[in-house]
Amino acid sequence: MMKKTNETENMIKNLSERKDTYLRYENEEVITWCNGCGNYGIQNALKRALTLEGFEPDKILYCFDIGCNGNGSDKIGGYTFHGLHGRSISAAAGACIANPNIKVIASGGDGATMSEGINHLVHAVRNDYPMLFILHNNHNYGLTTGQASATTPKGFPMNGSPDGVIPEPMNPIEFVLGLNPSFAARSFSGDIKHMTGVFRKALKHKGFAFVEILQVCPTYNRATPQSWYRERIKYVDDLKNYNANNLKKAREIVEDFEKNIYLGVVYQDEKRENFMDKLQNRKNIKTASIDEVKNFPIENLLKAFE
Ligand code: SF4
Repeated sequence: MMKKTNETENMIKNLSERKDTYLRYENEEVITWCNGCGNYGIQNALKRALTLEGFEPDKILYCFDIGCNGNGSDKIGGYTFHGLHGRSISAAAGACIANPNIKVIASGGDGATMSEGINHLVHAVRNDYPMLFILHNNHNYGLTTGQASATTPKGFPMNGSPDGVIPEPMNPIEFVLGLNPSFAARSFSGDIKHMTGVFRKALKHKGFAFVEILQVCPTYNRATPQSWYRERIKYVDDLKNYNANNLKKAREIVEDFEKNIYLGVVYQDEKRENFMDKLQNRKNIKTASIDEVKNFPIENLLKAFE
């Protein structure tokens, strides 16, 4: 059964007071996602969270990756960038360093993030760039018609591996917790209220906020459908005395992906300085790099090419 709290009910009520902002995140582009795809819920929850946290669309940059979730770049108001496979984090990292006055969000699927772009994920966590990253984990490469990804359950037949997937699957949040992140959370695409709450906390976090969404893909992922998740999902908020400051406990709680799948902010270090805070050479500089580049005289540089 899905969790309902006063907090999440209030979130929905408050949305009606800010509906003008919410509607600016909506647009009329043609939807290309399959019926029942988890991407609908994820994007809906993110729009709600942005609205409730007071972000106007012209103050956000959203970097999308290639993949089914990347096709969401047409469906959300605000500035968007649709980049190369596995590279949304690197584009977003550059943007948030150049212009700290905008909220930078990036997303990627399990294919792009845990394979092609895993190096970017690792070093973004280590550097603690001030951005939100959303991992759409649907356990397969959906856009290219259902090949196995690094998170597909072992032994399950997929397009491209009809005899069953050979390697052990990766557990993304467990992997990230091994990198000593400043924020790690997990939610489920079938629970919009929970996702909205997690996104709101992640948007307020100062450093790199990693949010894994367990996303249903009814077209290609038959290994872990909606019902499979609903039988296993539990919430860290329901645990007595769960302390999200304890990295060791966070690692323990996400280890099991067979019986009890815990959702929520499993770890957060609110006191840690982020990448920008630690940049000594910008300590006393008030302007953003993007403004300095705009004002940099390039005439002399151009003369070198005459
Ligand atoms: Fe969604 Fe899967 Fe369809 Fe892609 S293939 S749009 S992830 S349901």
